[in-house]
Amino acid sequence: MVKLVAGNWKMHGTSADLGEVRAIAAFAAKYEGAVDVALCLPATLIHRAAEAVPGFTVGAQDMHANEEGAHTGDLAAAMLHDAGAQIVIVGHSERRDAHREADADVRAKAEAGLRAGLKVILCVGESLEVREAGRAEETVAAQVDASLPQGPVDPARFSVAYEPIWAIGTGRVAECGDIEEMHAAIRARLVAAYGEAGAGVRILYGGSVKASNAAEIFATPEVGGALVGGASLTAADFLPIVEAGA
Ligand code: 13P
Repeated sequence: MVKLVAGNWKMHGTSADLGEVRAIAAFAAKYEGAVDVALCLPATLIHRAAEAVPGFTVGAQDMHANEEGAHTGDLAAAMLHDAGAQIVIVGHSERRDAHREADADVRAKAEAGLRAGLKVILCVGESLEVREAGRAEETVAAQVDASLPQGPVDPARFSVAYEPIWAIGTGRVAECGDIEEMHAAIRARLVAAYGEAGAGVRILYGGSVKASNAAEIFATPEVGGALVGGASLTAADFLPIVEAGA
C-alpha cells in the first residue's frame, strides 16, 4: 500500500510561504507512485497554491457539511474543490474541541466531501485523560463507528488519521506498539463497516511526527502514512518525512 504523507498547516502560512509549497511539490513529483503527498493549507492559500503547483495535491483543513446557505464564514466542499482543493481533513481534534464538532457532524462532513469529489482524511484520537483511564481503544473505536461515512467508500479517496490528542504539538509520540494496537482496532472497525474496501483504507498516524521518528512509525504494521502538523511547514522539515514514506 503506497503511503499517504499529508501536511496540515493549521493556522500558519501566507503567500510568503508559497515557496515552501513549490519546493515540497517538486520533491513529491520525484517520488510519484512511491508515496502520495498532500498539503492541507489555510483556505486563503488554496487557490494560489493549486495554481502554482498543478498536479500536486493541495487540500483544506475543514469544510461545512451543507452545499450552500446562510453559514457566515463557512466554506462548502464544492467551493474548496472549485478553488483547487483535492482533499480535505474532517474531524480534527482541534475542531472537535474548539468548535464542538460531534461525531455526527464529522460524518456529515465526510459524506459531503466525498460527494463533492474531494478525498477525505477523517481524524480520530483520544485525550490523555481517556488514555490514562485505560479507555483509549474503546473511545477511538466508538468515534470511528459514529463518524465514518455511510455507504461504500473508495480506499483511494478515503483515509482515517489516528491522532492521540496528547501527542499533537507536544513532541510526545505514541509508542509504536500503541500505534499498532490502535490502528488494528481501527482496521477492524473499517472492515466491519466496508468489508473488503475497509482493508484497503489507509490509516495515518499523527502527533509530533518528524524526520527523526518517521521511518520507525512508517515501519509499524497498519500505518498507512502520516498527518504532519508543525514539521510540514517547511520543505526542510517535511521532505525527509516524505522520503521516509516512499
Ligand atoms: P503536530 O505534527 O504538530 O504534532 O500536529 C499533528 C496534527 O495535529 C496534524 O493534524
